[in-house]
Amino acid sequence: MTPTVKMLGTEEVRKLYFYQAFGKPVAMSRIISFGKCNFACPYCKRDCQFMDFAGNVIVAHDIPVSSVEDACRDAISKNQVVRFSGGDPCMFPRETLALAKFVKENGGRFSIAHNGSAPRWSVQMAELGMESAAIDIKGTRREIGTTAGIPAHTAEKMYERSIETQDLLSSMGVLVDVRTPIFAHTTLEDMLEIASDICRSGDRSKEFWTWRVYKPVRGCEWQKPDLDLITWMIDEVKKEFPEMKIGLRAKWEPKGFLFF
Ligand code: SF4
Repeated sequence: MTPTVKMLGTEEVRKLYFYQAFGKPVAMSRIISFGKCNFACPYCKRDCQFMDFAGNVIVAHDIPVSSVEDACRDAISKNQVVRFSGGDPCMFPRETLALAKFVKENGGRFSIAHNGSAPRWSVQMAELGMESAAIDIKGTRREIGTTAGIPAHTAEKMYERSIETQDLLSSMGVLVDVRTPIFAHTTLEDMLEIASDICRSGDRSKEFWTWRVYKPVRGCEWQKPDLDLITWMIDEVKKEFPEMKIGLRAKWEPKGFLFF
């Protein structure tokens, strides 16, 4: 039987703006989007809140692994960085490790976009030559259970795993883009607490922090934050952590990505 994998899509292309913070040109990434996640964020960017009881994203489809390889081959021919994304790619460890190997053997580059819950898998990906990783930290220890839709008893563990994943990867030379969603209820104290943990260890010269402005979605009551207030918060965080590289992502604004 032909091996298949549950996917959302393989055609989307996105710019990796944060490369500029490391003196590199913006890279184009090909989003290889897996259709399952171990988090259940109420605002999920891909409508993944519509899951069945097994955690499968309902809009995902079974696609032959060979078709995913074809997409990777096409991305390589276009000099795109293959980005294993989701859902969350950690839900498919065997397939992603094999695909990462395939990309490297065919002269390509690869990256992950991951919720930070799987440090060991992330390290295995790094050992195969991964060049960058977007690692989410979706709120403070207190809030991550709510923002990620995970049970309270695992929330703090997931927070620590994200920090561990960031530290392990940056220490291995991988460029790490830490990503945090910002809501109207996010406070300066929240962001200072997260900043302190991001800076605790790892190779800071390889770490970038993207603040992602929340855009309201149907079915979620949280509100969009005020951009002026966020800019002030970033300035305040920079006063305490001047070495941090910070970006602000508000993709519907005229300047969708700002560096601080
Ligand atoms: S971690 Fe990402 S893919 Fe998973 S539920 Fe949250 S937003 Fe959706």
